[in-house]
Amino acid sequence: MESAEIRRRWLRFFEERGHTVVPSASLIADDPTLLLVNAGMVPFKPYFLGEVKPSFTRATSVQKCVRTPDIEEVGKTTRHGTFFQMCGNFSFGDYFKEGAIKYAWELLTTPVAEGGYGLEPEKLWITVYLDDDEAERIWRDVVGVPAQRIQRLGKKENFWSMGVPGPCGPCSEINYDRGPEFGIEGGPAVNDERYVEIWNLVFMQYERGAGEGKEDFPILGDLPAQNIDTGLGLERLAMILQGVQNMYETDTLRVVIDKATELTGVRYGHSKDTDVSLRVVADHLRTSTMLIGDGVTPGNEGRGYVLRRIMRRAIRNMRMLGATGPVVAELLDVVIRTMGQQYPELITDRSRIETVALAEEAAFLKTLKAGTNILDTAVTETKAAGGTVLAGDKAFLLHDTWGFPIDLTLEMAAEQGLKVDEDGFRRLMKEQRERAKADAKAKKTGHADLSAYREVADTAGATDFTGYTLTEGEST
Ligand code: ATP
Ligand code: MG
Ligand code: MG
Ligand code: MG
Repeated sequence: MESAEIRRRWLRFFEERGHTVVPSASLIADDPTLLLVNAGMVPFKPYFLGEVKPSFTRATSVQKCVRTPDIEEVGKTTRHGTFFQMCGNFSFGDYFKEGAIKYAWELLTTPVAEGGYGLEPEKLWITVYLDDDEAERIWRDVVGVPAQRIQRLGKKENFWSMGVPGPCGPCSEINYDRGPEFGIEGGPAVNDERYVEIWNLVFMQYERGAGEGKEDFPILGDLPAQNIDTGLGLERLAMILQGVQNMYETDTLRVVIDKATELTGVRYGHSKDTDVSLRVVADHLRTSTMLIGDGVTPGNEGRGYVLRRIMRRAIRNMRMLGATGPVVAELLDVVIRTMGQQYPELITDRSRIETVALAEEAAFLKTLKAGTNILDTAVTETKAAGGTVLAGDKAFLLHDTWGFPIDLTLEMAAEQGLKVDEDGFRRLMKEQRERAKADAKAKKTGHADLSAYREVADTAGATDFTGYTLTEGEST
């Protein structure tokens, strides 16, 4: 089943059951606590918080999501992309646990010929939160899932909150058993590659108080209205329904891999390392396209930095695969052609997207070679001196002068067996920021010593490192 059909069936199923179809919001979150939309519920947050009353009590969407914290997993696990689409159904004080569970089961197990996804019930494993007897009872007694395929998980996996006082509640997740080729049996509590998580049902029923992050906080009591927030990964379901090994081989991403093969001559399946690179390229190019499509431009801060590091990582992986010239135009073309079917704004905005992407590629290619030489020399020197850690000032120089995002330096150093003094790097970034600030202030008040200003301006550039792991949490 094609991705487009998975999406159509999702929206139709919930629309037929009284849900208002809401188009995907932009990736740029209308929310100061979040850099990028990372879950389907984000655009509905004001409703869940009771700040705004929705004109409907049921909604459904297929939301564009970006999760930068998952970047390390890309290409290595079978199921994490930096960009993915989250199919969701939402209830605002309307149906609750039983309704959400029954809908999910019905849609997943209804035969394909009858409009569902046709998954075999025996392959579905359920997790519920530690003390959520009610959810377990519904799965077992109402839906008929055998008790041995229902497992309990702790707060980290199966309890949801936004990390701040407000609504919270237990989750229940649906996982698909991909069979013994993916490792040992025992359910999702034991093996999350084999029993891949596809759908998370969040039961918002309590109010949480202040506390530490997502695990350490008091429950203050019941919410006045109970809400449902669910999220199913479209790419993960596509991977199952298309019978492929990982999400990068599904219809919308595989074509990008094939284009990368055409450009580099490296066949998918050639080796473990080159396969990871090909998957990274496909994922990152798509994410970059979607980000630029929503108006992000590469930069050294915030979203711009997310885009920059993702794009540069894709380009560098293409070099590792053997590409020597520019590659972005052709890869972008494939992404726009496939994703443009669902997101026509990519097609209408094509020339703007291309201009932004190609300028970033050109800027990076200009400095990549020189930066790589500097890094190699520094690595050789460090090793010759018996060291195992690359100095922070080298990472700073690479960032500042050669436009190497810190994770690129980390990755390239790791390939040669070295760590990087990240604390030192951060200290230098902070100092630089403070210098730039002081300088801007001096300039404003007219007390600048011009010689000092020149020096700072020459070395500082316009960099402002906002952190390697940006502050996005995972919302659903
Ligand atoms: P995982 O444990 O596999 O990292 P998660 O628990 O972080 O997933 P949720 O926050 O529950 O994911 O999001 C709801 C659904 O979105 C997941 O069940 C999964 O199908 C999908 N999903 C989450 N993260 C990704 C990702 N990085 N790439 C593709 N799909 C994802
Ligand atoms: Mg996750
Ligand atoms: Mg999970
Ligand atoms: Mg989850």
